[in-house]
Amino acid sequence: MDYQSIFAEAIAALHAEKRYRVFADLERIAGRYPYALWRQDGDTREIVVWCSNDYLGMGQHDAVVTAMTDAARRMGVGAGGTRNISGTNHPLVDLEAELADLHGKEAALVFTSGFVSNEAAISTIAKMLPDCVILSDELNHASMIEGVRRSGAQKFIFRHNDLDHLEDILKAQSMVRPKLIAFESVYSMDGDVAPIEQIADLADKYGAMTYLDEVHAVGMYGPRGGGIAERDQVMDRIDVIEGTLAKAFGTLGGYVTASQVIIDTIRSYAPGFIFTTALPPAIASAATRSIQHLKASNSEREAQQRAVARTKASLTAAGLPVMPSETHIVPVLVGNADQCKQASDLLLQDHGIYIQPINYPTVPRGSERLRITPTPFHNDELIDGLVLALTEVWDRVGLPFAGASDGDTPLPGTAAAGGNARVAVFPPAGG
Ligand SMILES: *Cc1c(COP(=O)(O)O)cnc(C)c1O
Repeated sequence: MDYQSIFAEAIAALHAEKRYRVFADLERIAGRYPYALWRQDGDTREIVVWCSNDYLGMGQHDAVVTAMTDAARRMGVGAGGTRNISGTNHPLVDLEAELADLHGKEAALVFTSGFVSNEAAISTIAKMLPDCVILSDELNHASMIEGVRRSGAQKFIFRHNDLDHLEDILKAQSMVRPKLIAFESVYSMDGDVAPIEQIADLADKYGAMTYLDEVHAVGMYGPRGGGIAERDQVMDRIDVIEGTLAKAFGTLGGYVTASQVIIDTIRSYAPGFIFTTALPPAIASAATRSIQHLKASNSEREAQQRAVARTKASLTAAGLPVMPSETHIVPVLVGNADQCKQASDLLLQDHGIYIQPINYPTVPRGSERLRITPTPFHNDELIDGLVLALTEVWDRVGLPFAGASDGDTPLPGTAAAGGNARVAVFPPAGG
């Protein structure tokens, strides 16, 4: 058996489809966000990052960095064990209290990543409910899809943000059957927002539990950074709120918040929580500091929204095909994997601008895009430079300009145009 050739063929298939992933070798420069060093072929260049999920630059915030280094000096760098066996360092206890407070819930549980938190929490909750049926938005993240799959529960996929479709599925179930509606608040690739309140209304009407992924909203929306549910004042209508510490909070880890008894159940039954080493105390301290800062400070959120508005307006004015987005995520449609990669390569090589191409399976084929995430640190000069660079690259690759859009006609391949679900295939979606 020629094992090596089987793997080689799998990789060759990705090359043939122009979606083989190449990682940029970067070194972020603390204090100079969004600048980073980029290494390639023995060469080192300074570039500007335009696709980071460190949405507010908190990963370099002085107070956050200090919290991490102080804790590492006092407690060392590792956790020393699983949560059950000597790994529950006090900073984790503080962090969980901070998170429960952020989302107005009784309790919180921290995981080593947001991915693990979704996989572990959804699968454990659904396994616990006898004959549970899961209703899952078609654009849910790969980590939620893994949780649904691992639960073994029956699942129905409802069309993205489609309340009528969701209600049709709910209505068809027996009223007494346990149901779990799993969805996101901000969808990471299109930047659109779920109708949380209406979904909660349907959950009440049909007796369903609700599970909300706020990964792309925590820190950035709501008066204290509690996410879209906080902004819309519906946190108490959602049973389980999940988030990450690795995006706007700038550190690492994931979490769920819910009632004491739901959290205790996940803590007690989820293998992805139990059988792995706890998050290190220094990271927990840094995350807590970041959350505390964003609970009290609006200036990062305001500066981000300003940079986002200016970026969208400038790109649109230049005729670049900015996809409709209600949030801080600014997707620019390319529609083809090869050209998406070409555009990204040219931006980096010739303009020192780093925007990773987003191809299938992260987004449906035909909706390949550049996903731009302006932060408080992308000033007007950087935005103007981005517009010039993108315009030049669009010309060179031969990509179409959009002209002024009336916003009514969905761009091809988007969810609003009936695009396909992101599906969890290898290599996994997301990231
Ligand atoms: C990034 C992401 C996750 C996973 O969070 P990590 O902390 O990066 O593992 C979960 N859900 C969504 C929607 C994401 O985009």
